[in-house]
Amino acid sequence: MPNDKVIFDVTIIGGGPAGMYAAFYGGMRDLKIKLIEAKSELGGFMHMYPEKLIWDIGAVPPTRCETLIGHLEQQARTFDPTIVFNQRVQHFARLEDGTIELLSDTGEKHYSRTVILAIGRGITNIQKLDIEGADRYEISNLHYTVQQLDRFRGKHVLISGGGDSAVDWANELLPIAAQVYVVHRREQFAAHENQVANMMKEARVFVPYKVDKLHGSGETIHSVDIVHSDTGDSITLEIDAVVISHGFIRDYGEIGNWGLKMNHNIIAANETMATNIPGVFVAGDIASHGSKVKLIAGAFNDAVLALNSAKLYLEPTADSMAYVSSHNERFLERNKKFNLGS
Ligand SMILES: Cc1cc2nc3c(=O)[nH]c(=O)nc-3n(C[C@H](O)[C@H](O)[C@H](O)COP(=O)(O)OP(=O)(O)OC[C@H]3O[C@@H](n4cnc5c(N)ncnc54)[C@H](O)[C@@H]3O)c2cc1C
Repeated sequence: MPNDKVIFDVTIIGGGPAGMYAAFYGGMRDLKIKLIEAKSELGGFMHMYPEKLIWDIGAVPPTRCETLIGHLEQQARTFDPTIVFNQRVQHFARLEDGTIELLSDTGEKHYSRTVILAIGRGITNIQKLDIEGADRYEISNLHYTVQQLDRFRGKHVLISGGGDSAVDWANELLPIAAQVYVVHRREQFAAHENQVANMMKEARVFVPYKVDKLHGSGETIHSVDIVHSDTGDSITLEIDAVVISHGFIRDYGEIGNWGLKMNHNIIAANETMATNIPGVFVAGDIASHGSKVKLIAGAFNDAVLALNSAKLYLEPTADSMAYVSSHNERFLERNKKFNLGS
């Protein structure tokens, strides 16, 4: 172990909601925290839907996702964790003294006593539309995410896909767009029932259909042929924009070769967020356990459990959880800033 290297108590890999909340809670547990994020910013998957209103976080009134990312980052930085950007962690090694050595794709090494994997779906690659020449419309009206809702105001929008994202975007666009068409290759949608019911009320839904041809003039699509999956019957729809929501390809990189026990391609954990590798815990969408909730709120809960487990792994006689923030001495000085007394 090189003498000049700093060893952290906990290294969190991934800066989505799970990683950010873990960084905050690690401070409440008085642990020396490092967070490593592969991209140049924190937020993780939340960047896929920045303008969406988020309703399902306790005590937070409907708030735009981009605002929530800012709040989460501010909270994550409360106890000044070390945050490293633009490094994708790849390799894991256990040194003789038990310290974990992580190697990132830049060649930098990181040393830690424990690790929390908060890598969500890993590095996600969008599943693109498999039609030759489709890529030339990506600069105009073929989209793979809905970044700015206003771009679709008054437009005829075709959404292709049948998962949560496709249905979510259809519902977001319904009040704004002139017409929303939803095309899905199966009869059933793999999304929340009430969201599907809501979409069905106003969108024009074509199932089981798939996008077959894009017709464009120059670099803009003006109509789309969709075909019935069984009969091959074709319908042409005049559109102003196409949104493809065919999912993502997960890529865990070398983390997939660490020897972690997997459950349907997600890392298996017990109820304390411990994996089969001692000192390695999980939080967020990458975690598979009996009561997993794949939502931001679920990521927060996993993060607390993972941090408490890391603390007990390092200090077996420590309290099982942090003292509540209302009476936690770590906030006494900070409370003064908010005129809440000392
Ligand atoms: C369209 C859509 C709408 C949604 N709407 C809602 C909603 O309304 N409410 C809600 O609660 N949830 C919603 N969700 C779900 C929510 O986004 C996820 O549950 C949440 O983002 C999971 O957080 P996470 O931190 O586990 O993972 P992620 O957000 O995926 O973050 C993982 C991070 O890890 C990084 N990373 C990956 N591999 C490495 C590596 N090797 N080294 C370093 N960094 C790495 C990634 O770059 C990423 O930043 C929605 C999801 C989608 C797709």
